[in-house]
Amino acid sequence: MRTGSGEGDSGRGAMAGQIADEIKRWADAIKATAEAIDAAAGTIERNASRSVILEVNNTSSRRLSILGGGDHDWGGFRKLPPETIPPRSHAEFTSQSNSPLTGTEGSVQYGVDDEGTVFHLEWSNPFVGDNACLCRVEGAHADFYATNSITGGGNTAAHMRFILGENADASKRDPDWRTCLHCKTLFYAREEGFCPARPRGVVSAPTDATRENAQVPGQPLPGGLQSGPRGGPWIEQGGTEPLPDPATAGMEMFFGHEAAGYTFQLPYGIPGPNRMEGWRRCRHCVGLFYAGGEGAGNCPGRRGGHEVLDEWLEYVLPFGVPPREAPLSDLPAQQGDWRFCDRCFGLFYYPQNEDAVCAAGDRHHAASDGYVLDRSGG
Ligand SMILES: [Zn+2]
Ligand SMILES: [Zn+2]
Ligand SMILES: [Zn+2]
Repeated sequence: MRTGSGEGDSGRGAMAGQIADEIKRWADAIKATAEAIDAAAGTIERNASRSVILEVNNTSSRRLSILGGGDHDWGGFRKLPPETIPPRSHAEFTSQSNSPLTGTEGSVQYGVDDEGTVFHLEWSNPFVGDNACLCRVEGAHADFYATNSITGGGNTAAHMRFILGENADASKRDPDWRTCLHCKTLFYAREEGFCPARPRGVVSAPTDATRENAQVPGQPLPGGLQSGPRGGPWIEQGGTEPLPDPATAGMEMFFGHEAAGYTFQLPYGIPGPNRMEGWRRCRHCVGLFYAGGEGAGNCPGRRGGHEVLDEWLEYVLPFGVPPREAPLSDLPAQQGDWRFCDRCFGLFYYPQNEDAVCAAGDRHHAASDGYVLDRSGG
């Protein structure tokens, strides 16, 4: 086994590599307490000439499962590495020399998923020379993860810390998403779009009268016209908006969404474990919808389903993980139990589905695990 020796042997611990601040904050929020480290140190024999405390901070959303029993070139475990390390938790184990004038040097591997992604960590506290430790992720989804190791100094109870994080936790976020009070879907709250729970009328076909009057800017149209699509080919009674597009004649139109409850910030751009790509903003109803599969669902602003606003962001949303109920170390609180509706293709708040309205009629139909959304602000 090869271990790096460039990290030095400082008593304070040397940081190797760079990880995003978000992952550091996660790790600091879940790291072992001083009591936990002392308890681990208590497992080490007093006469061991070299020993280490090995701390793992699993900030990822994955449950780590040990592969094999670990390897030692020198020394052996005193406190065994745990079989599993749950998501967002820490674990400690210890290793020590087992004969005079020797050190401890070994490695442990944890499986990160069922597809061959492995978290590998190793350490060295030799009888002669500097301490070292390192860790890395290998295999199928190695790109999803970031790692960091911190080498502790000293001959005995040297504290080595290994951090596993998800790159997607450092995603940029778009802060302007709200729940609609009426339809219970998530929508882009800087615009109103169209809400399937707020019908406004049916688009009328253009008549001679509307053609004539619509050409006079600023003049009210004659009464008696039915509602048409707002913000586009829309004619309202007494309004001054342009002629309806004949193609929309007979189409049911809707008022905009109305924001209620929390504001959410959606991560975008970086894939990761337990994250679904393909969530986009609709250019018509301004709702969030799943554009990563077959079909376009039902849109209250367009016949034929939602349509991606191409120039906008591609969101990558976490699902199937427990939400953070409260802010943690500068990380925002979250709300879980958002679901994909396989009728309208929107994302809706499942606990309020009794009061919801789906663009496909009736209630939404939950067809996914619970998505977890980061709240904006408090
Ligand atoms: Zn709505
Ligand atoms: Zn839409
Ligand atoms: Zn729906």
